[in-house]
Amino acid sequence: MKTLSNKIFLIIFTLTIIISACNRNAVNNKLTKLKDTTTMNMVKHTDEEWKKLLTPAQYYITRERGTERPFSGKYTKTFDDGTYYCVCCGYELFDGESKFESSCGWPSFCDIINSDHIKIVDDYSFNMYRKEVRCARCDAHLGHVFEDGPKPTGIRFCINSEALKFVPKK
Ligand code: FE
Repeated sequence: MKTLSNKIFLIIFTLTIIISACNRNAVNNKLTKLKDTTTMNMVKHTDEEWKKLLTPAQYYITRERGTERPFSGKYTKTFDDGTYYCVCCGYELFDGESKFESSCGWPSFCDIINSDHIKIVDDYSFNMYRKEVRCARCDAHLGHVFEDGPKPTGIRFCINSEALKFVPKK
């Protein structure tokens, strides 16, 4: 009986070590990704300063990683020629030509103007794994990216309208 208890203890002990090692690796990967994608010319403000610069909705989405209600965003049905910029820092993000009707309820783009202008961060919120999209210059939360977009990229950047400023082509 004592031998069985020892075996059970040994199994539990070994499992605990393995699980904690896995968790540590996941956290390390996350930190590495954040560090590696930090750009040199970051736009930084305190929370109080961002609150003065942004509307409450823009602040909630971009600085508190919020999500606007589906089909509520002002750019959901916009398909004009032009450019979409980060609402916080004005960084150029998406070309109107890459926007497509995805029926998901949020502005959807199949490509980015410059991949250096965004960074992708692992997001484990709400008990699921997603890839969060942030502005590389000011760290604004923009939305998420999924691999179910149209060809040829096969990517769908699912972005909150409140995180964007659209400037139509003249
Ligand atoms: Fe930005």
